[in-house]
Amino acid sequence: MGITYRRILLKLSGEALMGDLSYGIDPAVVNGIAEEVSEIAATGVQIAIVVGGGNIFRGVKGAAAGMDRATADYIGMIATVMNAMTLQDALEHLGVPTRVQTAIAMQEVAEPYIRRRAIRHLEKGRVVIFGAGSGNPFFTTDTTAALRAAEISADVLFKATKVDGVYDADPAHNPNARRFQSLTYSHVLTHDLKVMDSTAIALCKDNNIPIVVFDLSVTGNVRRAVMGESIGTIVGG
Ligand code: UDP
Repeated sequence: MGITYRRILLKLSGEALMGDLSYGIDPAVVNGIAEEVSEIAATGVQIAIVVGGGNIFRGVKGAAAGMDRATADYIGMIATVMNAMTLQDALEHLGVPTRVQTAIAMQEVAEPYIRRRAIRHLEKGRVVIFGAGSGNPFFTTDTTAALRAAEISADVLFKATKVDGVYDADPAHNPNARRFQSLTYSHVLTHDLKVMDSTAIALCKDNNIPIVVFDLSVTGNVRRAVMGESIGTIVGG
């Protein structure tokens, strides 16, 4: 089976970087992810990454504790930049050229988000990591991933998570839960399936971007997904 996708948008949740810790970043886990990304980059596949921040701070939680929601969301966005820089460091240790671009300007540590420049980096074989979400409160990094995927004309959005796909019930509580191999965007939206938030799904639907949901903790899964192997669940038209 050959390479199916030439330009991918990989969404990594903050939790994915946390491993088995209850907070923060597990360096061993980040190094493992970097190795997988490095392997794919070496094949010439163009890789853009959107990182979450839930391992450090979530706006919704801050708001629930009494904070102003927008302020809390900005803190969440800044948390994603820490993850982005950590991942950049791990990739560069492996010799992979990278650029971090942030949606909130912090030019001492990263480039500002400039769409055409991001595409140019990808064409030159650099892994582009998008930090600070979309730059807007009340959004998520899942929606950011869908937005950036559309902006850079990615062939696919990879939603790398801790479960091996989308189920018709919670597999942790229901032993009869079945995993979907494929789903339509409309099915996900009408049944409120927990793939990504509805804004992200709607953006992918409107722009015809397939979503592949798979378990990141299985070594080699990013490569399998790039090769179009049937891992996890694919959401499409
Ligand atoms: N966030 C935001 N706007 C965005 C993206 C993220 O306000 O466009 C904030 C929001 O508070 C969110 C936090 O950043 O809770 C971390 O992102 P997210 O929860 O999506 O991370 P993940 O669940 O992927 O770890």
